[in-house]
Amino acid sequence: MIDIHTHIGRGTVKEEPVFGIDELLKRMDELGIEKAVLLPRGVSPECSFFHFDTERVLEVYKKYPDRIIPFCKLDPRNGNNSPETDFKWVLEEYKNEGCKGVGELTANLYVNDERYKNLFRQCGELNLPVLIHFAVSVKYGIYGAAVDKGLGQLEEVLKEFPDTIFIGHAMAFWSEISSEVDEEKRGGYPEGPVKSPGRVCELLEKYPNLYGDLSANSGYNAISRDPEFGYWFLEKFQDKLLFGTDLCHVNQEVPIVDYLRQAVEKGKISEIAYRKIIEENARKVLSL
Ligand SMILES: [Zn+2]
Repeated sequence: MIDIHTHIGRGTVKEEPVFGIDELLKRMDELGIEKAVLLPRGVSPECSFFHFDTERVLEVYKKYPDRIIPFCKLDPRNGNNSPETDFKWVLEEYKNEGCKGVGELTANLYVNDERYKNLFRQCGELNLPVLIHFAVSVKYGIYGAAVDKGLGQLEEVLKEFPDTIFIGHAMAFWSEISSEVDEEKRGGYPEGPVKSPGRVCELLEKYPNLYGDLSANSGYNAISRDPEFGYWFLEKFQDKLLFGTDLCHVNQEVPIVDYLRQAVEKGKISEIAYRKIIEENARKVLSL
């Protein structure tokens, strides 16, 4: 299995024990995860006091090259907060050191902000996928690239940057698995049956450059809130989904591993779909 989404380092809560590389590797062994994408943590000031930056990710990668797939951090406001910042030389340096993608992006600007667009264009030119934490709007108290209900701003960038691979993550993205989206709940974990496929399904179908990151509660909730719909979704979008955990805390529960295993054991999804979701799609998207 390849996990598309993990972090290590110190969290935002004072008392929280540090989740370090030893803890991550132990959990990976327990869960049967061979390799994990290690994302920098707290990459934008919105998220955290403590940053785990690209240089530290690369140090860990050099120590465990068979287990860790490094991503680099960039905030679209880095440089001089301009839509014309040259990110390419930085991206090239990180790519040469082994980074396979950029993210997770957490700056709380609209995803079609000119500064995000400038970064997306340059990531596409260097074949570096971007992993985005989506948020419901630009406001106090949240982090992530903002997108309105219906994901219109995401569609705009998917269309404008066909050479950039976008990996969607978090609540504002996964709430749109259903066509019924409640403005009040779309920043959380909407429950209950999915009456008909939503904008996430439409965009995954229409844009070859969009993938879904199944990590965290947001991804797990999306595929399990209505199990029959979830199985259909996994089978239907078997080429566009990436298994992930968002491991970042000590004693974190990760129900998705068993959920996917049971889905294939019970014959709810095909062995082929399962293999793609847990590993093969990641190999393709990250050029492993
Ligand atoms: Zn994350």
